[in-house]
This record gives sequence, structure tokens and C-alpha cells, in this order.
Amino acid sequence: MNCSNNKKIQILDKGHIQLINHMGSDWTPEETARISTGLEESERTDSQRVVLTRYLMRHKHTSPFEFISATFEVKAPIMVLRQWHRHRMQSYNEESGRYKQLEPDYYLPEENRICTQSKSNHQGTNFSEQSQFSEYYRNIWKVEQDQAEKLYESAINDGLANEIARINMPVSHYSTMRVTANLLNWFRFCQLREDGHAQFEIREYAKAIHTVLSELFPECTKAYEDYWLNSITLSAKERGELKKLLLLTESIDSTNYVNYLEKIVNNNTGDHWTKRERTEFIEKLKAL
Ligand SMILES: Cc1cc2nc3c(=O)[nH]c(=O)nc-3n(C[C@H](O)[C@H](O)[C@H](O)COP(=O)(O)OP(=O)(O)OC[C@H]3O[C@@H](n4cnc5c(N)ncnc54)[C@H](O)[C@@H]3O)c2cc1C
Repeated sequence: MNCSNNKKIQILDKGHIQLINHMGSDWTPEETARISTGLEESERTDSQRVVLTRYLMRHKHTSPFEFISATFEVKAPIMVLRQWHRHRMQSYNEESGRYKQLEPDYYLPEENRICTQSKSNHQGTNFSEQSQFSEYYRNIWKVEQDQAEKLYESAINDGLANEIARINMPVSHYSTMRVTANLLNWFRFCQLREDGHAQFEIREYAKAIHTVLSELFPECTKAYEDYWLNSITLSAKERGELKKLLLLTESIDSTNYVNYLEKIVNNNTGDHWTKRERTEFIEKLKAL
């Protein structure tokens, strides 16, 4: 199915993502899951569909989300694609430097991206401190990229095979691929690569993919954001500490604090905050 909203979204200085096509709709996981219960499509309201979609995500009943897929064209620096290709549950086809002369596009970061090494995250950047050498390195990188491109072009013009002429291409060089995955694996990708621990450059791509997914599949994406991306899991230790804190804060004993919390939860209703979900929440609180 071709999409009407498949515009190129610019990323970094010369990159982009572009939705090529997708399969399925926001209701596909719900329709797929209904095979279990056999309820006719005409018997379901939109609200019931949303509630089931959210139930599936909440209970990690994830296989129905695998029935949606989306394909993107991605133009990104090789260093980004190298990280991207670690996601084995996606399928790729990348342009070949063996067949064709590659475009003369290189990633040159903005000066304010050229910051110092983070002290707390060993593989990260301290974005609050731009390096005093940012301008210097940016200029040198530009010169090196121009030189690499000139050498590449002269090797091609001298008749060298494409596959060997590209030998000194830096990881800043842009490459283009098509990538396809099901929605579950797109969510996995977004969760890992939008996170602050991922490198800035791939984060920009993951954010754009997330935006497209939320336009195409708003209810599924909302369920992912609520029950997966923005949810938290407590360790056994954390659970114990939270219980102590709750008892302390409310100055009530453990026999009636669940009743107290139950009252709060049941008084708090809202969009799709169903009785079932409230009951599940109370069960979690009881387990503290
Ligand atoms: C911040 C960050 C830093 C990283 N640093 C490094 C690094 O320094 N070096 C490095 O090499 N990698 C690094 N990675 C890559 C990382 O280890 C994963 O390979 C990558 O994030 C893909 O995740 P994934 O395996 O969940 O995804 P996918 O490969 O798409 O797999 C999706 C899911 O399928 C299942 N699956 C896939 N393959 C297998 C399998 N063989 N066995 C069992 N289950 C499988 C798992 O449930 C997995 O979560 C980093 C990733 C991040 C996000």
C-alpha cells in the first residue's frame, strides 16, 4: 500500500528518512487478536478496539503487533547505519559501492554538536560543554572529507574498480538503504535508539521514525508509549523500598493502606483507564 504522507524528512545535514509503504492499520493488532474470541467486526466500537489494543500491549501479548509493517528509505552516515544494522529483526537493502559511484555526501556535524567526552556515560557526549576545539576539528574534517572525495573520484576516473576505489571512505560518508520491519520491532528500535544512551545522530533518525509511526498507527503507538516506553519496572529491592515509603508517607499500617490506595485508584477515572486496568493496578499495589 502506498502512502500519501510519504514525504522525505530531513535528518542531520544531508540525511533523510522517507516512508516508502506500510501494511496494516491501527486496528490490525485488535483484528488479529479477535481470532481468539471470534467477535464480529460490526459488533465492536472504536473504544472497545482501543481498549483491546492497549490490553495487548499492557500484557506483552505482542504477536498481533507483528502483523503491521512499515518500510523506510534511510540516508544516513555509515556510522549510523553500522549501529542500525545491529537490529537483526529488520530487513535491509543498502546501495552498493561496488556497482555505482557513490554520492559525494559526508556528514559534517554542527559546531555545537562537537562537545567533550561525558564523564558519567563512557560512550556518550557531554552536551553541556562544547569543545574549545570544535571549530578547528570541524574545519579539518571538512578538508579531509574533500580530500577523500577527490581521491575517490580520481581513482574512478583512472579506471579502478568501484569496489576498491572506495577503500578510504570515512564513516561520515552517507549511504542509503531501504529497511523494513514489523511494528513490534520498530517499537523496539525506537525504545533503544531514542534513549539518551544512544548516539545523538541515530536518535534523530529514531525520533523521526517514531513520529511517522504515531501518524500512521496512533492508538498502537500511544499504547507503546504508555505501557512500554514511558512505563517503569521496579526491582524487588525497589518494590520493598517503595512500600516502606508509602507506609511512612501515609502514616498508616500495612493492613489498611491497600484499601486507602484502592479508594484513590477507583476515584481516578479517565480515558481508557478501564475498571479492568484499575483492578490490575490495585493488584500491583497489593503486591508491594
Ligand atoms: C546505547 C546502545 C549501546 C550499544 N553499544 C554496543 C556496543 O558497544 N557494541 C555492540 O556490539 N553493540 C552495541 N549495541 C547494540 C546492542 O547490543 C544490540 O545489538 C542492538 O541494540 C539491537 O538490539 P536487539 O538485539 O534487541 O535488536 P534485534 O537484533 O532487532 O532483535 C530484536 C529482538 O529479537 C530477539 N533476538 C534477536 N536475535 C536474537 C538472538 N540471536 N538470540 C536471542 N534473541 C534474539 C531479542 O529478543 C531481541 O531483543 C548498543 C546498543 C545500544 C542501544
